[in-house]
Amino acid sequence: MNYKGHGNKEIVERVMPESEAREKIRKLKQVPISGRCARECIDIAYGFFTPLEGFMGREDIDAVCEKMTLADDTLWPIPIVLDVKDEQIQAKKIKKGDAILLTYSDSALAILEVEQIFGFGKMKMAKAVLGTTDEKHPGVRMLNGLENTFLGGKITLVNPPKFQPPFDKFWYTPRQLREKIAERDWKRVVAHQTRNVPHSGHEWLMKGAWFSANGELPVEKLQTGVLVNCIIGPKRMGDYIDEAIALCHGELCEAGYFRDDIHLVSITLWDMRYAGPREAVFHAILRTNLGCTHHMFGRDHAGVGSFYDPYDAHRIFDQIPEEKLRIKPVRVLEWWYCPVCGEVTYSGLCGHSEKRQSFSGTLIRSMLEDKVKPTKLIFRPEVYDKLMECAERYGFGSPFCTKRYLAERQPVFKLPAL
Ligand SMILES: [Zn+2]
Repeated sequence: MNYKGHGNKEIVERVMPESEAREKIRKLKQVPISGRCARECIDIAYGFFTPLEGFMGREDIDAVCEKMTLADDTLWPIPIVLDVKDEQIQAKKIKKGDAILLTYSDSALAILEVEQIFGFGKMKMAKAVLGTTDEKHPGVRMLNGLENTFLGGKITLVNPPKFQPPFDKFWYTPRQLREKIAERDWKRVVAHQTRNVPHSGHEWLMKGAWFSANGELPVEKLQTGVLVNCIIGPKRMGDYIDEAIALCHGELCEAGYFRDDIHLVSITLWDMRYAGPREAVFHAILRTNLGCTHHMFGRDHAGVGSFYDPYDAHRIFDQIPEEKLRIKPVRVLEWWYCPVCGEVTYSGLCGHSEKRQSFSGTLIRSMLEDKVKPTKLIFRPEVYDKLMECAERYGFGSPFCTKRYLAERQPVFKLPAL
């Protein structure tokens, strides 16, 4: 089994057996952490962020900001930081060298070995990573909302999360995912990053990227797979509900639009920074750790508003030497419907650009809101039916996040009492 991840390092796994953990955590000082930090603890512990073994110290953050690398020169675009309330640090008398217990929603989560306690200019980080300090950028608002003190050091998970249905069947750690890929005998895996329910534009994006990744491989026995990796993080009003994103991607396969031997859906916990090109590099690293060999990047990948040129996230890979990043970017333009061709086609192929009908997320969304079934050319009927089923079952009647969904939804994972 190949467990080599980003930077050619062994996939990190820092999880303590329960019996040992129960004993160990009894005397530790407890520090509550935010949802984002909890999600990132889980990511670090299972190796999604390999080679990181904990939250960054000052040297790593400096290098990330200045050179887009860790202090040891490994490619890395986004700081991974643990911010903690000053009152907690003072009240609990936390100092360098301590081991502390990080808790989330009143449950034990992970042990942190405190190596550094420090402050860092949040706007310096914003400028370097997001390219702006404008409050209109959601990544800037997120950085502004951080506490002023950061703790750096290695973490060890003491309480593995229990993913709740329907997420449990999409949750694989990077090691489990690699085992799954090996089981299916995939030699190449092309990653699709998503926070959307798929319309036909997404479906063809994935299909085009599959052809590109499969390249010259013989076709008698298919050895290239598509990994749909759904990002699970904080939601905003109007986003698709998480349950629908994963289940509707699964439906594309169940309904046969993808063969079941070349398609897999999984989830990753991540709070989007909307950092455009830098986030594209981060997604590439993440999927390297999941065992992917290729990663598709469409128009305006991980962008927001007009902060980045739609193809900045393509161009950034030109500057990264091949030996620094082992996953191959598959750069994709737009898929659209062309009435002359009479089909969904690719902007790099179709010569009727003046007649094109672009996929409009906004238009499709407003149809779905009104419970109008879009034509099957732009939205698969099985996916529509699954979406409406999800709306009833999980979304309090809506496929999109409402106030009620945000307040009353079932958690994605629970932490059992230790
Ligand atoms: Zn055409």
